[in-house]
Amino acid sequence: MRIARFSIDGNVAFGAVEGSNPDELVLDIIKGIPFADFELSGTKVALSKVRLLPPVLPNKVVAIGRNYAEHAAELGNEVPETPITFFKPSTSVVGSGDPVVYPSFSQELHHEAELAVVIGRMCREVPRDRVKDVILGYTCANDVTARDVQQREKQWARAKGFDSSCPLGPWIETELDPSDLAIQCTVNGQQRQLGRTSEMVRSIEDLVVHITEAMTLLPGDVILTGTPAGVGPLNVGDEVAVTIEGIGTLTNKVIKRG
Ligand code: MG
Repeated sequence: MRIARFSIDGNVAFGAVEGSNPDELVLDIIKGIPFADFELSGTKVALSKVRLLPPVLPNKVVAIGRNYAEHAAELGNEVPETPITFFKPSTSVVGSGDPVVYPSFSQELHHEAELAVVIGRMCREVPRDRVKDVILGYTCANDVTARDVQQREKQWARAKGFDSSCPLGPWIETELDPSDLAIQCTVNGQQRQLGRTSEMVRSIEDLVVHITEAMTLLPGDVILTGTPAGVGPLNVGDEVAVTIEGIGTLTNKVIKRG
């Protein structure tokens, strides 16, 4: 099932996305929330008539650095012995169609297409064989990064945590084997990144075990699993799109801070 979050007439709701023609998708409004047992209401609305929101409002986004060897190498880095983990704050999250606002303190903004894991239930110290039980589904993410700031500041909180630096969407796919999916980033229609999730150094199981060794994950929390090679600049006016096989396309436009 594809679960979207959207606003309609000033209200926020979740809906199951139905249909295969991208221009004719319909939302069946969910009674309740997708983190518990829920029913479909049968009340349907055209997706084109609503505004998509980020598919979740995470308490935290835990992101992983250098999880694809080719990407680590392109920036002159090694794959680390233990995964690099960092946070992106809840205020960095935007949805598909929302703008990415170029930060005032950077001259080098980069895209990073990533598979995002959406956590479905509260969990801590998750054993490897239970990882799939704590995952609600998967969505597309863009770990937008102020590369110049990342290189000159030791911690990445500003470089990767500014407002609108974490586009998520367009929806959560709950029935998906994430182990070998094509992941692509285009800028103004031109391909910049193309990889497969099978190239991850650490698997999703590895990452959930590693993160929950340290902290509790809550329903709606998100893990960003790293980006394949091909990261590059974003400029004001660019349209950046992250497409993951079996999920869909997350599209955002880069705008100047007003
Ligand atoms: Mg990243």
